[in-house]
Amino acid sequence: MERSVQYGTTSIDFTVEWRRRKTLALEVHPNMCVHVIAPNDTSIEEIEKRVLKRASWVVKQQAYFDQFLPRTPKREYVSGETHLYLGKKYVLKIREAQKESVKLKGGELFVFCKKPDSATRVRNLLSGWYRTHCEQRFEKAFESGYQKVQTRVKEKPVYSIKRMKNRWGSCTPKGQIILNPELIRVPSKCLEYVIVHELCHLLQPNHGPDFFRLLEGCLPDWKRWKDKLELSLV
Ligand SMILES: [Zn+2]
Repeated sequence: MERSVQYGTTSIDFTVEWRRRKTLALEVHPNMCVHVIAPNDTSIEEIEKRVLKRASWVVKQQAYFDQFLPRTPKREYVSGETHLYLGKKYVLKIREAQKESVKLKGGELFVFCKKPDSATRVRNLLSGWYRTHCEQRFEKAFESGYQKVQTRVKEKPVYSIKRMKNRWGSCTPKGQIILNPELIRVPSKCLEYVIVHELCHLLQPNHGPDFFRLLEGCLPDWKRWKDKLELSLV
């Protein structure tokens, strides 16, 4: 069932699904769709009221996911534009050089390139640099994330890095953790939060109260990093 409520000048469209459950759940999906799962006996008026009550959160979530959609402004790979690395913005500086390399120096991200005018060349060099750092950082973060759940998850799962359009991480039914390489752009504590979150899914596949109790037990300040994660790319 599709409905809509008006929040100021913004119209929030949402779909409703009734299920046998006790509480109402409101989800904002990465494609920005809003989905309500309501207990069987909830009226549509009550649901609309609940959506309105959380409207500012919905709008904030949508703005957050908006960052991942392809229509975000594309980078041109020219000097002066900013690129994110571990939650910090670095100004790109492209320099002509025979020996190609990428280096972080102060607040700047230097790309030494044979063809400084070629966006493709610069992009490829940067992408290689991000990939290397991604692998190293994720390995470290996964190690420290796993330590936090180790007493509960006896067998260390494997993880892979895979670009996903709409999610930071995922845990497959087979227990494999997938991490989005985009996480290299957010603070390392946020990356660790995503890892612990996914590791908790090994024991609690759904986002029920048990899941959050477990997450809280493994990472007491998880909320802080989740909030930071949501703000870090805005
Ligand atoms: Zn989850």
